[in-house]
Amino acid sequence: MSAMLEGKVAIITGAGSGIGRAAARVFAREHAKLVLADWIEEGGNETLRVVQDLNAEAVFIKADVSKWEDAKSIVTKAVASYGRVDCAFNNAGIEGASATTHECSEENWNKVIAVDLTGVWHCMKAEIEQMLKQGHGGAIVNTSSGAGLAGVRGMPAYVAAKHGVAGLTKAAAVEYGRERIRVNAVCPGPIRTPMMARLLGERPDAEQRFARGGPLKRLGEAEEIAETVAWLCSDRASYVTGVPMPVDGGFMAQ
Ligand code: NAP
Repeated sequence: MSAMLEGKVAIITGAGSGIGRAAARVFAREHAKLVLADWIEEGGNETLRVVQDLNAEAVFIKADVSKWEDAKSIVTKAVASYGRVDCAFNNAGIEGASATTHECSEENWNKVIAVDLTGVWHCMKAEIEQMLKQGHGGAIVNTSSGAGLAGVRGMPAYVAAKHGVAGLTKAAAVEYGRERIRVNAVCPGPIRTPMMARLLGERPDAEQRFARGGPLKRLGEAEEIAETVAWLCSDRASYVTGVPMPVDGGFMAQ
């Protein structure tokens, strides 16, 4: 069987860490040409080295997705490097400071919404403009969350942003289906990444306690999200669009 993303030009945001880096590795294995974006050069360049060691064609661009000009520059880089954009994984995100709804500061709210919701919209806007220009469809996968399907305590802006990403995914799927642009989202459960380590904090048993709450009794690995994203980006998922898909070890099934 040929590689799932053979020759496809793929954008990955938040590529410098966690799920984004795992996606870069899986996309490289599946023979995609990669445009890696992150707002921190160090992590992004490390991911670039990792995928180049896997013989992938790849470039890195420093970009803050909360800024429209930066989001647009990711697509410009893809077109300058490889001539087109076939798929995109809009994954960059932040968790924000922990606070309940009435305690959440205006600053925390604005920052999380700017990256996690507006950032995804910026990327989609630039990518869809380019895909429409190309005229041969495309596939977009956005990172929502279990917190995009249900409420979670202490992170109201994150929950609102991730529900927003699920909504935006459906809106774009409905708008661009005719142009053969598929738009889906992944809704990861608790995944072992630097973000999850920050959320779990210092308590040594925090991970086990959290993991016990789900049917599979463990956290997920970033690669388990990346495999789903690669499939959703590939032609093997050709009839899948408009879906915020839980990849969560069954947490949402409870
Ligand atoms: P991570 O390890 O913190 O990776 C996120 C990456 O995105 C980091 O490199 C981060 O840089 C970068 N980033 C943050 N804001 C950015 C911006 N404005 N522009 C460009 N890059 C930016 O987190 P992760 O766990 O892999 O999370 C990836 C995505 O999955 C996020 O959208 C997150 O909300 C979502 N998610 C994660 C989990 C989980 O359990 N881990 C569960 C559900 C959903 P810095 O590290 O410098 O901020």
